[in-house]
Formats: sequence, structure tokens, C-alpha cells
Amino acid sequence: MKTNEIYLLHFSRPYKHAKHYLGSAVNAQVRLEQHNSNSCDVNLLRIAKAAGIDFVIARIWPGDRTKERRMKGRGLSALCPICQQQTNNKQQKGKKQQ
Ligand SMILES: [Zn+2]
Repeated sequence: MKTNEIYLLHFSRPYKHAKHYLGSAVNAQVRLEQHNSNSCDVNLLRIAKAAGIDFVIARIWPGDRTKERRMKGRGLSALCPICQQQTNNKQQKGKKQQ
């Protein structure tokens, strides 16, 4: 199936080394509902959910599987606005303490 949206899922807490999942879908919102249902076909997300971890869509890009594969080679935290926000907050707190 041709996909046209790439989405980044951010985990509420890390599962082992995984904190994100990058995927592509025709419609990222619909796909998220699938991930949250029992018919989820992604092992990592099923296991994370069983461990009590929630995930949210942090970001959506236009693109297909080819672009998704290219993006998977990079650090996903750098692409994630939620992680970026957390990093900024930490840096600001660090400054105040100095
Ligand atoms: Zn993140």
C-alpha cells in the first residue's frame, strides 16, 4: 500500500532502548488508533503497551516508505519536538542553578 504520511510516536517512558517509533501510513491518526487496538501489527508497540507505556504522535511529515527508511537511520530524538522541549527545559533549569 502506498503511504503518504510519516509519523513519529513518542513513548511516555522508554522501553529498553526504544523511546520512539517511526512509521508511515495513509493516515497517521487512523494508524495510531490501529496501534492502540488489539489488532496492532507492530511488535514493539504491542510489547510497550503491555508494559503500560503510552505513545503519542509527536510529529507528522508528508512522505512515503522510502523517506521513512532514510529517516530511520538518524537519531529519532533529534526529530522529536517533545524530546527537544524536554532538553530545552533541562538546559534552562541548569542555567538557573549556576
Ligand atoms: Zn521524543
